[in-house]
Amino acid sequence: MGGGNGQKSKTARERNMEKQKAAKRSQLESNKKAMTIQCKVCMQTFICTTTEVKCREHAEAKHPKSDVSTCFPHLKK
Ligand SMILES: [Zn+2]
Repeated sequence: MGGGNGQKSKTARERNMEKQKAAKRSQLESNKKAMTIQCKVCMQTFICTTTEVKCREHAEAKHPKSDVSTCFPHLKK
């Protein structure tokens, strides 16, 4: 009595953990693939979902003397 139940929930938990691990792994993979924006001045990489605002912030903070389009040529004015 009771033992069977515990066994079942333990298995479910383990299965769930495997699922979470796999999800985390694939997230890491897609994160790596997502690093596609690169500042041409300091070669820092950004996740491709980085907004234009963030790119401009980086350019203004790190390279105030350079134009934002020099750092990120994909940003067209
Ligand atoms: Zn930079």
